Amino acid sequence: MNEYDSDRIRNCLDLELTQDPQEADVVIINSCAIRQKADQKALSSLGKFKHLKVKKPNQIVGIAGCVAQLYGDQLLNKIPHLDFVLGPRAIPSLPELVTRIEKEKKRCVETSLDLEEIFEVEPYHENGKVSAFVSVQQGCNKVCSYCIVPFVRGKEINRPLNDILNETKNLVTKGVREVTFIGQTVNSWKANGYKFGDLLKNVAEIEGLLRIRFTTSYPRDVTKKMISAMAGAPKVCHHIHLPVQSGSNRILAMMKRTYTKESYLDIIKTLRESIPDIAITTDVIVGFPGESEKDFNETLELVKEVEFDSSFSFKFSPRPGTPAAESKELIPEMISNERLAMLQKFQSEITIRKNQKKVGSVEEVLVEGESRNDPSWQSGRNTHNQVVNFPGPLSLKGKIVNVRISEGLRNSLRGVLLQ
Ligand code: SAM
Repeated sequence: MNEYDSDRIRNCLDLELTQDPQEADVVIINSCAIRQKADQKALSSLGKFKHLKVKKPNQIVGIAGCVAQLYGDQLLNKIPHLDFVLGPRAIPSLPELVTRIEKEKKRCVETSLDLEEIFEVEPYHENGKVSAFVSVQQGCNKVCSYCIVPFVRGKEINRPLNDILNETKNLVTKGVREVTFIGQTVNSWKANGYKFGDLLKNVAEIEGLLRIRFTTSYPRDVTKKMISAMAGAPKVCHHIHLPVQSGSNRILAMMKRTYTKESYLDIIKTLRESIPDIAITTDVIVGFPGESEKDFNETLELVKEVEFDSSFSFKFSPRPGTPAAESKELIPEMISNERLAMLQKFQSEITIRKNQKKVGSVEEVLVEGESRNDPSWQSGRNTHNQVVNFPGPLSLKGKIVNVRISEGLRNSLRGVLLQ
């Protein structure tokens, strides 16, 4: 989501990109507020421009994204070299804001959450890229007690079907072969009587598009219609990222996740019955306020039972204004650290075992380009969203090829191209 917003910021300003801050006329730090660490990182990045501003007083320095939204004009008071604060919904007003600062030399804050033109600015697209994100939804209507997203990104707004189809077709004409739909709870998407399953079916008809992915799905919004669209359209990848957050019903209720461990497991069962090879990945939070040893063990049990293909796991981070941050039952850092390490080791063993089981299988890989470590190797992804590296020529970029897997590693697979 933040990467997509950075590309939108880049596209809406008619400026050339530079890697050298000394050369820049405008510097924008795009920020994430989901956990405290990310939020501090954004503020310390801004600090690096303090001395440059002394040498280059006309340089415009701004902060965009969720940290900007969260702290608003407090940031102008706190950071004297900051010229503007721009919330994630206000990106379309950025060009006007920069012109105003240049002319009037006045500092500004734009954090309105109800700008209508929210989807108007499309992202910058690098020529030759095989895969692209398409935003289908902004904001979130869920009320997870730990999460800052609804406060900083506002209520859910769904993009009309035709706009999504047009952006996707446009990307295909530029050489894109795979789109990933993004939204906070992407599968709750609905517009003009269409539901998420209809979106998948309609986009699957676009000629030249080879693959469709989406993230992040919300468990209660997984419907039969969505599953049947996934199973019925070969372009829809066999992967779902379905954050579970905890395996304890007590903690899930405190998180206000609106499902139980049992109903989550039912969804997994239905998904696997309809799409037997589906890869399932998840997010987990450990050390949520009040999480007992028993609750944590229930999370381990659930991870063991589902055998996720991989997972992202986080220590609970109290976020200002969220109900969970007010809890009196905060878990000591040392315990959260231990639980996180234990969960990650547990998941890692499952992932490696599952990846090693793929040795000998033939995977369809959409080639994205040269591998980072060796240009004589190509890198791509299989339908399960796993990175697959293999020796081969760059001319394969943008094509789906068959690769026989020879090695299963923690974060990727290696193999041999089949001619
Ligand atoms: N909207 C999605 C959802 O709720 O399923 C994902 C939102 S967030 C960008 C990605 C992940 O960050 C969440 O799934 C959750 O595991 C984690 N997260 C969110 N708020 C957190 C917090 N306060 N502390 C720790 N992790 C958090």
